[in-house]
This record gives sequence, C-alpha cells and structure tokens, in this order.
Amino acid sequence: MPRRHRAARERSDPDPVTRPTSVAPEWAVGIEGVEVRAVSGEKGKAYRCPGCEQLIQPGTPHLVVLIEGELEGRRHWHTPCWRRELRRRGGR
Ligand SMILES: [Zn+2]
Repeated sequence: MPRRHRAARERSDPDPVTRPTSVAPEWAVGIEGVEVRAVSGEKGKAYRCPGCEQLIQPGTPHLVVLIEGELEGRRHWHTPCWRRELRRRGGR
C-alpha cells in the first residue's frame, strides 16, 4: 500500500477561501499517521460517530478520519468530537 505522507499538511495555503473543502482544518491534523478529511455529509446516509456513539445525521458536515494500520481505521467523526479526541490523545 502506498504511504501518503502528510500531503495535506505540507500544502500551507493561508487563504481558507481557496482551500478545497476536502482538506481538514489545520487543528484537526495534528497526529502522525492519521489522515483527516472534511466532508459535507452524504445525503441519505448516517454514520455512527465513535466519539459520542451518536449518529451523524445525513447532510451534516463532519470529518472522515483514516488511521494508518487500523483495521477499522476509516471512521466518521463529528467535528467537535474529533477535536475532543485530539485533546484526549494529547494533540494540539
Ligand atoms: Zn460525535
């Protein structure tokens, strides 16, 4: 499997307006080996957030977190839940 190395973090565009929506906010990508994407939320599809065990309602903008080397590494998180998780893990 090809390793994608912090591509999103190395691209430092200071203007948030020109930044594509798929790039997660700066604060969300503080952990090594974890890739975070911002998504607008698929219509008609709800996901269970591992942070609060609640459903992310369809159409809700949230984050997709991909953890390298984890079987179920791709999880959908509420944005505030991931922020809390980062603090818990000792990130920024
Ligand atoms: Zn949540």
